[in-house]
Amino acid sequence: MSRTITRRKLLRQGREAILAGGAAACAGSVLNARDSAPASPAGVDYYRKLGVTPFINAAGTYTILSASLMPDEVQAAMTLAAQQPVNINELRDAAGEYLARRLRCEAALITAGAAAALTVGTAACITVANRPAIVSIPTDMEGLKNEVIVQKAHRYEYDHAVRNCGIRFVEVETLEQYRQAFNDRTVMAHFFNAAEGGQIGREEWVRVAHEHAVPCFNDAAADVPPISNLWNYTQMGFDLVTFSGGKGLRGPQCTGLLLGRKDLIEAAKLNNSPNSNTIGRGMKVGKEEAVGLVAAVDWFLGQDDATMEAEFRDRAERIAEQVKSIPTVETRIFVPPVANRVPHLLITYDPARVAITGQQVMEKMRQGSPRIELNPATGGGPASAGLPGGTNTIVVGVWMLRPDEDMVVARRLREVLHEAIRA
Ligand SMILES: *Cc1c(COP(=O)(O)O)cnc(C)c1O
Repeated sequence: MSRTITRRKLLRQGREAILAGGAAACAGSVLNARDSAPASPAGVDYYRKLGVTPFINAAGTYTILSASLMPDEVQAAMTLAAQQPVNINELRDAAGEYLARRLRCEAALITAGAAAALTVGTAACITVANRPAIVSIPTDMEGLKNEVIVQKAHRYEYDHAVRNCGIRFVEVETLEQYRQAFNDRTVMAHFFNAAEGGQIGREEWVRVAHEHAVPCFNDAAADVPPISNLWNYTQMGFDLVTFSGGKGLRGPQCTGLLLGRKDLIEAAKLNNSPNSNTIGRGMKVGKEEAVGLVAAVDWFLGQDDATMEAEFRDRAERIAEQVKSIPTVETRIFVPPVANRVPHLLITYDPARVAITGQQVMEKMRQGSPRIELNPATGGGPASAGLPGGTNTIVVGVWMLRPDEDMVVARRLREVLHEAIRA
């Protein structure tokens, strides 16, 4: 028997593997069988083999929940990319030029996530201000400029990605404090795009920084859709902007976009893998992920905001329809203002009639078959990512659901709420 495998055949098999893999993952969640993990031409279903049970994502693009699923064309592009070696710097530069053109900015770099973009982007600002700093970051900052100005209300859980570079945050609240904070040690002004507080707006933030010739970074990691945000902030004047590759863009989870000024992007490259002895060496982007993110950007630019929004609203309404008959239940559709700006379904009820907390609903949905993950704002505590909470509030994130999963979620929700009705 001939063992010759043509390139074309390999490519075809790659595509089939992807399509079959999707179907197998789907079956796995229903069968819940962990002992048999058949090796087919599609490959081994390692979720089954390892006994890790996938779930229906009614949450959104949360990192711990693996964020998003890549569209078929993204998965196919990655499988093709995996079949031939390339020079990583050539791929990095070509992908960067392509993305800069499509995203209407001067330059672009694919990073190992938005958090990695915060790190290598900050390192870029430090090295532009202090030329030979690359090897010194973050441990030998003696004598180097290293102050980053930030609004107090913009301190957040991604600070560490900036602090990784050995910087010192200088916090300001008023415009006057902001103006006074600049000195000859300032390397960057940082902005958190989805911050819920802060007196100084985007345009003013940029204008004042530029008066002092200091670059401005905007973290907009979770802030698409709308699609136009991919160029809104660079065109507003931010020198660096990052988006997560694995959230709304639906690229590989371990990728991010760093967009902005050409000299800063070039400096970010110098601070990043594959260059050894850099802060970014541990933030490697493989060829498959690089190609995957380019394909995801192509996919995303082929969508349109109105169609996406209408689809998400339809899903939310279909689920609402199924739970409306439960006594005291009220539903509404809520769109957060900046991050995750897509329709979410909010379900509230009177706990005197429906005796279950949001937390308990979330737990029951998680333990059912199939498993379902609701949005983490469910059951209250503090608002999460601009979403209102409350002990008797259920939040359904519909945008990451696969076709027909909305009805699975709806039926299970109705069942769980129905069981809790007090006579
Ligand atoms: C998710 C997120 C990040 C990190 O993005 P990754 O791509 O997971 O590294 C950074 N900043 C904000 C505001 C985010 O929401």
